[in-house]
Amino acid sequence: MIKDWEFLTFHEISDLARRDPLAILLAGSTEQHGSHLPLATDSIIGNGILERSFRHIPDENSVVRLPDLSIGVSLEHTEFPGTISYSTEVLIPMVVELGRQIVRAGIRRLLIVNSHGGNSAALDIAGMKLHAEGGLSVAKVDYFRFPRPKGIEFPENEWTHGFHGGATETSMMMHLRPDLVKPENFCSNSSKIEEMSQRMRMIGRDRAVSLYWMADDIHESGTVGDATLSSDIIGQQLLEHYGKCLSQVMLDMTELDMDDSGRGGGFLRLMRSRPGPLLQGSRKNS
Ligand SMILES: [Zn+2]
Repeated sequence: MIKDWEFLTFHEISDLARRDPLAILLAGSTEQHGSHLPLATDSIIGNGILERSFRHIPDENSVVRLPDLSIGVSLEHTEFPGTISYSTEVLIPMVVELGRQIVRAGIRRLLIVNSHGGNSAALDIAGMKLHAEGGLSVAKVDYFRFPRPKGIEFPENEWTHGFHGGATETSMMMHLRPDLVKPENFCSNSSKIEEMSQRMRMIGRDRAVSLYWMADDIHESGTVGDATLSSDIIGQQLLEHYGKCLSQVMLDMTELDMDDSGRGGGFLRLMRSRPGPLLQGSRKNS
């Protein structure tokens, strides 16, 4: 059963905590996505994937969705009007405080679902801090690192370099919120990092070197990728695929063992000896 944290009473939260639920925190962003997509693009996509993932979670499983983080770390987009960003130094303690407070309510498992690359570093630090403090098993998932879905014929460079306002994000938005998409502004913008990757031996995307960039360093429009390849149908395929992957992550989270004190500080032993409610559900349906 999927519950929304803020719609429950405090008594219901206590009852829920006794079922050892998995808490979900969606981390999105409010940042420019070119002239064809709205500022809320990452948050809308994250929500769309999350909702699809819930369809694969059996009813007897206990999952509670925390209020979303709809502003993230978008320093790379601050040159563009409309972007609202926390600094990394602000987001880390916010997530840590949130984690501490759900522990106080009896929650022991947290999955942070991240739909914006710029949040990753802050979420990693916050997740590690919470884990080190004990009481909470924490994992973070970046949906955009899931394996690619089969059957979508984007060119290779679109998958690798078209990551901001390109064909994947635009397709998912066409399916989720066509009313917010402006097809008349679709264009194809190649990334300067792609060009560098071809020219340079060590610097490039997904290589060992981290080259930091602002959005207008990689294309003056603020986006990279080919939005003209986008379609509603592809968007639906992407969302279904990422939603399925995410549901697997949720079920995996239940197979992490908390130590017997419930502290959760000693590293989660794989494969609990005593299956919890979520695990029982996943087994039953697999
Ligand atoms: Zn985005």
